[in-house]
Amino acid sequence: MSAPNTEHRTAGLAPATILGYPRIGRRRELKKAVEAYWKGTITEAELAVTAAALRADVRSRLKDLGLSSQDGAIPESFSLYDQVLDTTVALGATPLRFADVQGSDIDRYFVLARGDETHQPLEMTKWFDTNYHYSVPEISPQTPVEPHAGTLVGYVEEARTQGIDSRPVLVGPVTYLLLAKAADEAPEGFAPISRLDDVVEGYAALLRALHEAGARWVQFDEPALVSDSLGYTREEILAFVTSAYTELGARADRPAILLTAPYGDSSYAQTRLGALPVEAIQADLVRGRLDEQALAEGSFARAFEGTTFVAGVIDGRNIWQTNLSQALATLERIRQAGVTVSVATANNLQHVPHDVADEPSLDARLARWLAFADQKVEHVALLAEGLAHGRETIVTALEENAEILADRAHAPGVRVEHVRQRAAAVTAEDRTRAGETERRAAQLALNIPELATTTIGSFPQTAEIRRARAAFRRGEIDVDAYEQFLREEIASVIRLQEEIGLDILVHGEAERNDMVQYFAELLDGCAVTTNGWVQSYGTRATRPSILWGDISRPAPMTVRWSAYAQSLTDRHVKGMLTGPVTILAWSFVRDDQPLADTATQVALALRDEIDDLVSAGIEIIQVDEPALRELLPLDADRQQAYLEWSVGAFRLATGGAAPEVQIHTHLCYSEFGEIIHAVDGLDADVTSIEAARSRMDVVVPLGAHKYSRGIGPGVYDIHSPRVPSQEEQEELLRIASAHIPGDQLWVNPDCGLKTRGYDETVASLTNMVRAAQAVRQELA
Ligand code: GLN
Ligand code: ZN
Repeated sequence: MSAPNTEHRTAGLAPATILGYPRIGRRRELKKAVEAYWKGTITEAELAVTAAALRADVRSRLKDLGLSSQDGAIPESFSLYDQVLDTTVALGATPLRFADVQGSDIDRYFVLARGDETHQPLEMTKWFDTNYHYSVPEISPQTPVEPHAGTLVGYVEEARTQGIDSRPVLVGPVTYLLLAKAADEAPEGFAPISRLDDVVEGYAALLRALHEAGARWVQFDEPALVSDSLGYTREEILAFVTSAYTELGARADRPAILLTAPYGDSSYAQTRLGALPVEAIQADLVRGRLDEQALAEGSFARAFEGTTFVAGVIDGRNIWQTNLSQALATLERIRQAGVTVSVATANNLQHVPHDVADEPSLDARLARWLAFADQKVEHVALLAEGLAHGRETIVTALEENAEILADRAHAPGVRVEHVRQRAAAVTAEDRTRAGETERRAAQLALNIPELATTTIGSFPQTAEIRRARAAFRRGEIDVDAYEQFLREEIASVIRLQEEIGLDILVHGEAERNDMVQYFAELLDGCAVTTNGWVQSYGTRATRPSILWGDISRPAPMTVRWSAYAQSLTDRHVKGMLTGPVTILAWSFVRDDQPLADTATQVALALRDEIDDLVSAGIEIIQVDEPALRELLPLDADRQQAYLEWSVGAFRLATGGAAPEVQIHTHLCYSEFGEIIHAVDGLDADVTSIEAARSRMDVVVPLGAHKYSRGIGPGVYDIHSPRVPSQEEQEELLRIASAHIPGDQLWVNPDCGLKTRGYDETVASLTNMVRAAQAVRQELA
């Protein structure tokens, strides 16, 4: 072994940094370029030029916002599609099933992400407890590890031409393997983490290449450290981390390492992380805490001797201004304890939009309370300034921040007395419907057949619908013309469903741009943005709404459309609402009160909506909660409390429905084993879930639990245009009917149809209805 390289030990990490920055571009330039490349309208070289320009813009912007051009302050957190996929590619850990894929590097990258005619894409799943989704690595004993540092080296070199000494970012080895699944060829019981030693060698090779390219810092993200949901205890995870970084740290020819632990609490591990042979350790001090005892006793400072503690004091997941004075006090306290400290965000800013200054139509008073990515970078730089030169030097900014927080606390709409009084008066009874037996008897009058067929709510959002909506927004057509268009659309969807022979109909949701934003635009206390895009996966981005004040419903939101649809048919039309948990999960929610309180307010608004729907003659109402599992906290301690308030909010929304009203819910995923009790707790009369891709896995535990209410395991996958045959759907229905009695079993697709085209939708639903008829006959 060569002598340790002391150059980076003395360099020190910059006093202000962020863990990462949004990469889709302020106007979603990256999305547009990547999609254009997929369509063949731009070349690979043109895509590369756009991507490089975006990276260059980000670097210079971060510099302008106050980050240093030196000492690794500026992260290289760009990704064409996904950072976990980038790590797979950097490690050369291409799953064997893709070994035969031909084409350029970039084409092979996109085949991993999106599949092709002969390859299913890598599975996609939620990144910790965020709304971001990553491509799941597949590892077996045979998966190659053939590191390619080229892309990262390229970033470092690009930065150098801008005079910037930047810091490449990768998912760290332990998190990478704990998020991986065993590849198909792996033997029964194989755990990807058993490849830790090989993979660490791969990272060591990447470090070497980056060192040779002149990189002085790298960042490895290890959010596995804060999670209880990865099949290992925290101590076990810490042991993996210790082993990996002891090894990597011992390598001589490497850049300095910043190890991060975003998205939760690492206080249990902070002193032990500080003792690792790496140069900087980050902690999320927004979701997580400091190890206060160690700080007070001095063991924190001893562990961090020669190591920088990177304090993640700026929230990177929400859009509210941080209390800067409080954050500075925390930083000062850490430094007084004898620790070298840098200021940072709690996590990668990929979860927030770019810039509040880009929101011309937001209420000006609300806009002042907000901090998007650019404002957060400025705050990090400001705090570092105050820490270095004294609080007095930034006093004006601190006072302005204090004034903003005070303004927010007292602004009209933030606390609305009648909303608060009503929420305070909620009782357990309000969250409780009549007993199941009584409801079942009362709902016999609905005359629902065995194996009833229905859909999840939306019908294809055609180009025509999008055009009409855009024309209405631009003022090119007036409200009457737009609504007439929607009525025609609803009428045609109703006719179509009757022709196909579905039992329970929907109105098709043509009036909704998005299942959360539609409601946010109609509720008081909510705002929507113009350019506030946040990447949800790959080229997909959403614009989360902002729940800033007390929530109430000034007028009915869906009744007109549902009542109109019902007036066109003798069959039941389901009312269609987005549930309180999903409205919260897919929005930026105020941080000045518990989520549970906001959920209660939203639930009460939905409860009134259900009341009005019933008065308008709607007898079946679906309240979608696709995000129920998404918001489940990472640490076990907080999960119970979450399940209580989330389930409680759903029950409050639906609890006013009389026994003869049938309440449905829809959940979007198949792995609902972990929250099956919560689903049961929702007490919905009928629950539809995704099940086709897992071939009805979920019916087994439901059967074993003697689940007593209605259940609609999806019989066809709506994520692809493929039309599933009648036989195929029959087969899945037979599996389901072996476990679930016919009068409880519903027949529906996996999810809404809004992303599909009409041809495939009609064909698939026709096959579905025929499959239900066939299996019904067999059962009779
Ligand atoms: N009702 C919604 C739809 O069909 C549900 C969407 C969802 O579950 N994400 O589009
Ligand atoms: Zn769904």
